[in-house]
Amino acid sequence: TAVPTVKLNDGYEIPQLGFGVWQVPAEQAEEVVAKALEVGYRHIDTAAIYGNEEGVGTAIAKSGIPREELYITTKLWVSDFKAGTTREALRTSLEKLGLEYVDLYLIHWPSPNDEKYLEAWKALEELKEEGLTRSIGVSNFLPEHLDKVAEVGSVTPAVNQIEIHPLLQQRDVQASNEKYGIATQAWSPLAQGQVFDEEPVKAAAQAHGVNPAQVVIRWHLQQGRILFPKSVTPERIASNFDVFGFALTDEELSAIDALERDGRIGANPAEFN
Ligand code: NAD
Repeated sequence: TAVPTVKLNDGYEIPQLGFGVWQVPAEQAEEVVAKALEVGYRHIDTAAIYGNEEGVGTAIAKSGIPREELYITTKLWVSDFKAGTTREALRTSLEKLGLEYVDLYLIHWPSPNDEKYLEAWKALEELKEEGLTRSIGVSNFLPEHLDKVAEVGSVTPAVNQIEIHPLLQQRDVQASNEKYGIATQAWSPLAQGQVFDEEPVKAAAQAHGVNPAQVVIRWHLQQGRILFPKSVTPERIASNFDVFGFALTDEELSAIDALERDGRIGANPAEFN
């Protein structure tokens, strides 16, 4: 299967569908990522705070897949940029991953009780310049944070990775991303399993002979978002990637849009410090 790519504002291309490893235990990460690579995923989303970069790195090394065919994202944790140790944090992540560069490095949360995230952004610009990461971006940034980055930065974030699923669509943040030419990545794209019993999801699954997770993944793909659903179950890892043989209709997409109910699962970025 050829996974579509999205062209980022710095010219690099990212596979639209990847594999996320939050809450994958360190000791299981190698096995789970190896399964994902075997199934065909080439884009892996991890973070320093997930504590599993070493397992991800081992799976990558053992896979023998050429580096240029992989797309690896990791993230800078808040305490590191508050302490002014952004460069050291990326070097540590690269060492754990066994890589010379990542494809995408993100500020994990803005933590806006001070404006240290702006210094972090300038540090990421340098790390990009030096080639330790190809692209740089942000995560959990609200429009007000993007405005500040636009004021002080010389580079526009390539992506903003935010919580998006049918129950919480953050259309204001998506519109702000679009205004700046920032690609939107959806985290917890399946609402961690909380949308599978919703009527429009079930109805579309039945109509296309697929499962509810596959419906929700198509909803994101057809609306242009980048996503990386997580699972540790081999059959689900495979079926979440098997989503290129059908398409939702406009009516099915709108019915899923109508599930919006401000159903936030994770932290509110304005309050997460
Ligand atoms: P998700 O929406 O991908 O849901 C994963 C859960 O859904 C699984 O644990 C399982 O319970 C269920 N599931 C998955 N596939 C299924 C299937 N085929 N059938 C039935 N159930 C299935 O949630 P997530 O892991 O929170 O988010 C995905 C990725 O997004 C993370 O792994 C991480 O990479 C990223 N993320 C980033 C942030 C951030 O702050 N930047 C926050 C959360 C997640």
